[in-house]
Amino acid sequence: MPKNTALNKSVIISFEDVSKTYDGKDVALVGASFAVPHGAFACVIGPSGGGKSTVLKLIAGITEPTAGAVVKPKNVSMVFQAGALMPWLSALENVAFGLHGKGLSMARIRSTAQKYFKMLGLQGLEEKLPRELSGGERQRVGIARALAVNPHVLLLDEPFSALDPKTTDELHKDIIKIWKETGKTVVMVSHSIEEAVALGTMVILVKDYAVKKIFDIDLPRPRHEHALPFMREVRQIKKEFFK
Ligand code: ADP
Repeated sequence: MPKNTALNKSVIISFEDVSKTYDGKDVALVGASFAVPHGAFACVIGPSGGGKSTVLKLIAGITEPTAGAVVKPKNVSMVFQAGALMPWLSALENVAFGLHGKGLSMARIRSTAQKYFKMLGLQGLEEKLPRELSGGERQRVGIARALAVNPHVLLLDEPFSALDPKTTDELHKDIIKIWKETGKTVVMVSHSIEEAVALGTMVILVKDYAVKKIFDIDLPRPRHEHALPFMREVRQIKKEFFK
């Protein structure tokens, strides 16, 4: 069982010997154990079909484990790869969407939505429809919407994989700024080892339906991809990834 130092700290998510089989036959995860401390930026990486999304779905409560114990907070929100915005709502209305039905006044809903809209640098785009936004802007709206409901954990499912490198780089900087400002715990699925090392405080390698290894990433920020310690970390993870 892979161990990580998170087990000694205040833990917000833990998997204990967790397995998941769909329809009694399709294995997705076997005996997964790990812990995520409060305030961590955990990146889940691994080859396609290895079980990463299953880990995220178990944390989100979208699916239940077949065996083992998952400890997680009730209040999580998810950002999907393609933003998953309501196409008929304006950008600001999309951010406000999750706030309706919580007994808040309209003024409070609007001011909260505006706060997160601004935090994501979206000012001026309030009335635009999703189809009138760029891919990066749509992802920003998706992140603002997820944060607006004040979740304990923010789940990101390959949020930057469809974006160009410059937009990705800008969003990386902003997500780190927001993570620091809000103190939220983040769990992000990524297919990029470099992205995981650039952002994460820990990297969870999920492969062949199992948690193979947990890496604590202790590099100073801002992180530079061409710095030696960064490359060393990437190399170490690659060795396990391709093993
Ligand atoms: P990843 O996110 O790493 O690509 P997944 O967690 O999506 O991996 O999938 C792990 C395995 O579980 C795959 O073999 C996949 O086909 C299977 N799987 C995932 N979701 C379902 C489902 N709803 N029904 C049946 N099998 C599934």
